[in-house]
Amino acid sequence: MSADCLFCKIVRREIPAKLVHESDDCVAFRDIDPKAPVHVLVIPREHVSSLNEARDASMVGRLALVAAEIARKEGIADAGYRTVINTNRDAGQTVFHIHLHLLGGRSLSWPPG
Ligand code: AMP
Ligand code: ZN
Repeated sequence: MSADCLFCKIVRREIPAKLVHESDDCVAFRDIDPKAPVHVLVIPREHVSSLNEARDASMVGRLALVAAEIARKEGIADAGYRTVINTNRDAGQTVFHIHLHLLGGRSLSWPPG
């Protein structure tokens, strides 16, 4: 855990978030500035700064499977959705606790900006 990490604070319930999933290893909550009708962030409870620091394949895999489970619950699994992990400057990572974006509920253009 990192004392001043925003997402660690959400894990510890020190700041509020609209939680949509909680399990032993992961938490998911709605993005505060949604870019699509469904925009959820899936994070590990453990503090890992970015995909560059990730060493646990099962943790990274869990983020994707939790996103798929939430997509089903949100009713967007069949229509489709996007999962994204932004890493460092060129991808625009702003919070340095690894998180997987689940975006859906509208048609998403490709390639991304
Ligand atoms: P990234 O740019 O990939 O690092 O994504 C960080 C995301 O965290 C952005 O989409 C923000 O809107 C979102 N975010 C920042 N602060 C909060 C918060 N307190 N609760 C929920 N989402 C947040
Ligand atoms: Zn953290």
